[in-house]
Amino acid sequence: MAAAPKIQLDVVTPQKLAYSEQVDLIEGPAIDGLIGILPDHAPLVTAMQIGVVRVVKDGEEIQIAISEGFMEVQPDRINLVVRTAELPEEIDIERAEAAKERAEEKLEKGHDKVDFAKAEAAYDRALARLKAAGHQDHGYDRL
Ligand code: ATP
Repeated sequence: MAAAPKIQLDVVTPQKLAYSEQVDLIEGPAIDGLIGILPDHAPLVTAMQIGVVRVVKDGEEIQIAISEGFMEVQPDRINLVVRTAELPEEIDIERAEAAKERAEEKLEKGHDKVDFAKAEAAYDRALARLKAAGHQDHGYDRL
């Protein structure tokens, strides 16, 4: 039987190559909604938003927390270029919990539009990290 087709996924940040593997599929938060990519996908470029990328590799699933960036897809490869990316084992849960609390306080106070948007983005980053690290909470449905 022929091996199942794979697609090369590179997740790149300004600091590092966060992930580079041949995978079965990915699903992640494109700017206009969740997008799934399988091998042989048509070429595309899309902006990405803060959230969790689900990667299936050899039948196993891992989740990568990302912040904003873009994704370029070719039939045999995906380049995901984002400001930050963390694998579950890299995520400092206490730090994310603290960031979530700080953002919540700012959201409660927030009068200024810019500050509110910044706090909302910080909140989403914290939620994405907690979700990717496997912390279950109904509040994460937001992402
Ligand atoms: P914080 O307020 O805790 O710094 P943040 O969302 O403002 O959170 P970012 O600016 O998105 O942080 O990220 C700065 C750097 O720190 C990036 O390299 C990112 O990967 C890393 N980082 C942020 N939060 C965490 C975390 N909880 N666990 C591991 N790495 C993190």
